[in-house]
Amino acid sequence: MTTQSLTGGCQCGAVRYNVTQPVEQVMHCHCSLCRRTHGALFASAGLVKVDAFTLVSGEAELVDFESTPGTHRQFCRVCGCQLFTRVDNWPDEFFINLGSLDAGQSPGHAPDKERHIFWESRVGWYDPGDNLPKHTGYGEG
Ligand SMILES: [Zn+2]
Ligand SMILES: [Zn+2]
Repeated sequence: MTTQSLTGGCQCGAVRYNVTQPVEQVMHCHCSLCRRTHGALFASAGLVKVDAFTLVSGEAELVDFESTPGTHRQFCRVCGCQLFTRVDNWPDEFFINLGSLDAGQSPGHAPDKERHIFWESRVGWYDPGDNLPKHTGYGEG
C-alpha cells in the first residue's frame, strides 16, 4: 500500500488535522450515544495512532464532552461538528469521525477492517443494506 496522508476538519474550517497513515479499522457505530450526539442514524469512525495524527489548527475551538465516564467526544464549538472520540483507557489511539475527512476521501483501511458495531441498537426502520460484518457491541478485535 502506498503512503497515504489523510486531511480533514470541521464544517466552519476552524479545526483542521492530518493523519500520516491510513486508518487501521473502520467502525459504523449504531449505539444510542453515537446516534444522539451525531444526530445521525449511525456514526462512522476510524481508529488512528496518536503518533500519526497532527492537529493543525483549532485546539481552542475543540470542546470535550464526556458521554460516558472515560469516553470523550470532541466537537467544534463554532459549527458543532463532531471530530474525535478519545477513550481514557486507550492512550495510543483514538477515533476520527470519517465524515470530517476532506472531499469524501477514503480512510485507506484494508477491506477486511470495516464493520458495523452495536448493531443490536440500530433503528428499526433503516438498513444500510451492505454485506459488512455486523457485531453486537464492539465485537471481537
Ligand atoms: Zn467548526
Ligand atoms: Zn457508538
